[in-house]
Amino acid sequence: MSAVKLLLFCLLFKEVVALSGNFWHITDLHLDPSYTLNNKPELVCESSGRRPAANAGRFGDYACDSPWHLINSSIYAMKDILPDPDFIVWTGDDTPHIPNEDLGEEAVLSIIRNLTDLINLVFPNSKVYSALGNHDYHPKSQHPAVPNNIYDRTADMWQKWLDPDSRKTFKRGGYYTEKLLNRTGFRMLVLNTNFYYDQNKLTKDMDDPASQFSWADEVLTKAANNKEKVYIIGHVPPGFFEKKRNKSWYRSEFNEKYLELIQKHHPVILGQFFGHHHTDAFRMFYDSENEDTPLSTMFLSPGVSPWKTSLPGVVDGANNPGIRVFEYDTQTLLVKDVVTYYLNLTRANAARGRWEKEYRLTESFGVPDASPASMHQVLKRMAEDRCYLQKYYKFNSVSYDLKECDSDCRADHVCSAREVDFESYEKCLEKEGAASISAGLLPLLSVAVSLVLANR
Ligand SMILES: [Zn+2]
Ligand SMILES: [Zn+2]
Repeated sequence: MSAVKLLLFCLLFKEVVALSGNFWHITDLHLDPSYTLNNKPELVCESSGRRPAANAGRFGDYACDSPWHLINSSIYAMKDILPDPDFIVWTGDDTPHIPNEDLGEEAVLSIIRNLTDLINLVFPNSKVYSALGNHDYHPKSQHPAVPNNIYDRTADMWQKWLDPDSRKTFKRGGYYTEKLLNRTGFRMLVLNTNFYYDQNKLTKDMDDPASQFSWADEVLTKAANNKEKVYIIGHVPPGFFEKKRNKSWYRSEFNEKYLELIQKHHPVILGQFFGHHHTDAFRMFYDSENEDTPLSTMFLSPGVSPWKTSLPGVVDGANNPGIRVFEYDTQTLLVKDVVTYYLNLTRANAARGRWEKEYRLTESFGVPDASPASMHQVLKRMAEDRCYLQKYYKFNSVSYDLKECDSDCRADHVCSAREVDFESYEKCLEKEGAASISAGLLPLLSVAVSLVLANR
C-alpha cells in the first residue's frame, strides 16, 4: 500500500471510529446487606423470604438479592471490559426485596449512597444518568408527586452528575433532562415512571403526577424544534411482563399516555432504556394507524441481582447477573448494537468469578443494527422460527433458564414485545394463542381425517 493510500485509509478509518460511541447500562442491582454465608440456607439473606438459598456462594444465590461482593464485581467488570464509556445509564432499584418494616428511609438512602459511591470510585470521570426505581423509595413504590426528603437527598448525592436545572426538577419530581454529554443536538430525558406503577397509591387519582407528562411533551416538542435527538431512560416500563400473562405495571390511563407520548414524538426519540423486569427483553412501539411501521424500541436490560421473583404464577423466575454495553452512532444516536455481559452464578461460586460476553445482538440475531426496523425483524422471526425464539428465550433469563419455550410461552413473549397497549395485547394473545392451538391441532386433525378415510 502506498503512503498516500495508507493515509487515506487511516483518515477514513478514523472517521468510522469517531462515529461510533458506547455506553453502559446497569439496572436492578438490589443490594442485600444481610447476605451472609455462615447460616442455614433459609437464613442466608432476608430477600429470600425464607426460601432456601441452596447454592449460596460468595457471588450470591438465585433466591437472594445481590451480596456486596457481586455488586462490587459487576462494577469492576465494567471497568475491565470498557473502562472509558461515553457515559453510564443506571436505571435504579438499589435496595433488597424485603418488607417495608425491615427497611426505612435512612436504610434506603444509605444503600443508594453506597452504590453511588462505588460507581463514583470506579468511574470518577464518567457522566452517569440515573433514574429512580420503585425500590428506591420508602415505603417502596410510593413515590410522591411532590418534593420530599428522598428526592432531595438523592439529588445531593448525585450532584456531580446533575446540572443545576436537573437538580431542581429532580428535587421536585425525581425527573430531569439535560443535553447529552453537553453536546448541542443531543438530549437525555430521565423519567420517574414510578408515578405510573399501579402499586403507587399516592398517584392513583392523578391525571399527570408532578406534571411529568406535560413537561416531557414540552421537552420533546422543543427538542424537535431544535433538531435534537433524544434518549429516554426510566425504571418501570409500560406494557406487560413477558413471564406472566396479563401482568402489566402501569395503570391503564398512564399506559395510554406513555404510548401516545412516544407515538407523537418518535422522530426525535432514538432509544428508550429501562429496567425493572430483571430479564433481557424489548418492547416495540408502532404507528397507531399502521401496525407494520415500527417507530421506536424500548430496551429492557437484565438486572445485576439474580433474585428469583416471588410474583405468583412465574415459574423459576431467576436470572444470571447481567450488564450491558450499547453501541451507538454518535452523529445520529441510532443504536447500532447491544452487547450483554454476564456472570454464570453457579460457575462463579464454584470456581473463580468471571464476567464474560453472553451475546452480541447483530451476531446472534442476524440483523444489521438495533434500529426499530431491525428489532421489528427480530420480533417477526421470533414469532415464526422456533429455534430463533429459543435463542431469544435463553438470553431472556441471561442464560439461566434453558427449558423449552412452548406455545404459551411463545405467545407471552411475542405479544408483550409487540403490544404495549392493553387492548392490542389481549387481541395479540387471542391471535397468537389461536395460531399455536391450530398448529398443535393440525397433526391430530390429519390423523382423524386419515382414520375416517381408512374406515370408509
Ligand atoms: Zn428490580
Ligand atoms: Zn423495579
